[in-house]
Amino acid sequence: MSLSRRQFIKIGGGAAGGAARATGLGSEVVGLGPPKSRDPGTQGDRVVPSFCELCFWKCGILAHVRDGRVTKITGNPAHPLSRGRLCPRGTGGTGLLYDPDRILSPLIRSEERGEQVFRKVSWDAALDEVAERLQALKKEHGPEALALFSHGYGGSWFKTLVHAYGTGTIAAPSYAQCRGAREVAFQLTYGSPVGSPETTDARNARVLTLIGAHLGENMHNTQVQELAEMIDKGGELVVVDPRYSVAAGKARYWLPIKPGTDTALLLAWIHVILKEGLYDAEYLAKYAIGLDELKAHVADRGPHWAWTRTGIEPETIVETARFIAGARPASLVHPGRRTSWYGDDTQRSRAIAILNALLGSWARDGGFYVPATMALPSLGGTPPFPHAEPMPDMPAGVVYPFADKALAHGLRDASIPGTYERDVKGWFVYGTNLLGALPQRERTIEALKALDTVITVDVLPAEITGWSDIVLPEATYLERYDDLHNPPFREPYVALRQPVVEPLGGSKPGWWIAKELGERLGLGAWFPWTDAEDYLRRRLDLAGLDLDELAVTGVVEGPREPTTIEEGLEPSFATPSGKIELYSQQMADAGIPPLPDYTAPEEPPPGSFRLLFGRAPTHTFSRTANNRRLGEIRDSNELWLNAQVARELGLVDGEDVMVENDAGVREGPVRLKATQRIRPDCVYLAHGFGTK
Ligand code: SF4
Repeated sequence: MSLSRRQFIKIGGGAAGGAARATGLGSEVVGLGPPKSRDPGTQGDRVVPSFCELCFWKCGILAHVRDGRVTKITGNPAHPLSRGRLCPRGTGGTGLLYDPDRILSPLIRSEERGEQVFRKVSWDAALDEVAERLQALKKEHGPEALALFSHGYGGSWFKTLVHAYGTGTIAAPSYAQCRGAREVAFQLTYGSPVGSPETTDARNARVLTLIGAHLGENMHNTQVQELAEMIDKGGELVVVDPRYSVAAGKARYWLPIKPGTDTALLLAWIHVILKEGLYDAEYLAKYAIGLDELKAHVADRGPHWAWTRTGIEPETIVETARFIAGARPASLVHPGRRTSWYGDDTQRSRAIAILNALLGSWARDGGFYVPATMALPSLGGTPPFPHAEPMPDMPAGVVYPFADKALAHGLRDASIPGTYERDVKGWFVYGTNLLGALPQRERTIEALKALDTVITVDVLPAEITGWSDIVLPEATYLERYDDLHNPPFREPYVALRQPVVEPLGGSKPGWWIAKELGERLGLGAWFPWTDAEDYLRRRLDLAGLDLDELAVTGVVEGPREPTTIEEGLEPSFATPSGKIELYSQQMADAGIPPLPDYTAPEEPPPGSFRLLFGRAPTHTFSRTANNRRLGEIRDSNELWLNAQVARELGLVDGEDVMVENDAGVREGPVRLKATQRIRPDCVYLAHGFGTK
């Protein structure tokens, strides 16, 4: 069955909403007082600083309010991630807040799971039902049989809840389906992951190499601002992409590589840089081990070897290798973000990590900086979480020995009875549309059909809410407090998310939902505060900060520490050797090649194309596909196909086509974009527009 985000959830008869009335909590969730901050010359009668949730970058925003409605959202100039500017998605927050499809009452399924027929119920009825189901699940299968899938900053309240309940079975598609391979590779090489926000000092790079990254279409605000700043300052781009991306249009070199062969190019670049002595020998002697092994490893991985695999001519490989190395150490080979592609992704990311080490770019201006975090003690006063038995046979730690988080598709598979020694029996899903986020959609549906219980917390209907037994409507990020945000960054800071307007309808903030459930489950000891304001005020007190002051500015910066060698930092590496590990003994000990090698991807069958996918600049996965404001800019997908190939196939630019994959799944229609900007062996789609 194919369910659409745009298909309305059907509400059957039954107990009426009136949720706020039923619980008497309609007015206690926000503490909206006088204007939080002076309007810097806009039409708002008050301006409230907070941080964005249209994607997960968490830029500082100023929400302008007039007559009780948010009229526009701008960037907070004081916030280090936004510096007064937002990406297009961030400005479209009102499209989420005032989305006519928002879920504004708790819902309980009244027909077969997946049929999307629900009845409205009061919050008391919904929370009692969830608590009853969770108690029954714990009694029958143990607490570990409950899995939490969580994506989004508000998920922290539910992580506390499920840890207190007794399960550590927690995953997010943003690990195995996105950044996980990269994080493992950099952890193995440098002893620390790249993290989010990425610790890239692009603004000071003299050369920025994008290989499998399309900044400018992937709109992580700070990175795109830094890319523009770098170009303004005369920095150069090398872009490796089978598609002529927006960034490729600004590049000195565009290398239209054959898809799936990036590692071959990376090894050839490493070969040239080593052979010609273009690497930072002094840096490597001081900070790295494994150079001799690396030299031997790539000795026969030269430009001619790579040419036959990548389609990039040897002269171009040599020229770009010299160009990249010529700018070191301010030469940054971007680590990418969504790095799960072909199955050898950790090795490809290892090759990127190693190449950066040869350039001496780690802990260097124009390379990677070493971030600092502003100290912010946790509240304390809660009992330790109960011991949680790990679910046995999860792929994390078995198939992937260096994965330090559970794999979302692994937990999905564990929910299909008999796949592993123990079955996951219940899903608690926070803010992630698993039907769109996980591969092998049919297996996700198989798992959903087999589960005892599925509970979803979300702001909008999504395919996953249609498969849920109980849907708990969360207030949007503009209507709620969340925990404080103090990520590792160049400028350490603490940012506040606070309600700008009151929650619409019967929606409730996540902190309230988690605390109410905790109390019903006898877990109130893990929520020792009266409300989020009490929690935040006490937590900020411990750091010597004041909630009322933070509410006015939205952000406070801590003392800046050296982040690069040029600034006086002496880098350290949390690897077993205490050095950058070009050769990874850890991988060798685990029976995994300790140096990255190239694995040729399977060739597509004749007459078919390699599918590339990326981001539409105005959308975040399937989360924003419903947003009317963003839909004004772009409301549908398009399939890029090489113009010459389109002519040969008799296809015309702008016509609707169907797409079929090698498993025989046929989807569409989708509008064809016939363009010279893509290799003839590929097609390209943006991710996240869902199904019709
Ligand atoms: Fe919001 Fe855009 Fe920043 Fe993401 S990058 S947090 S959508 S402004």
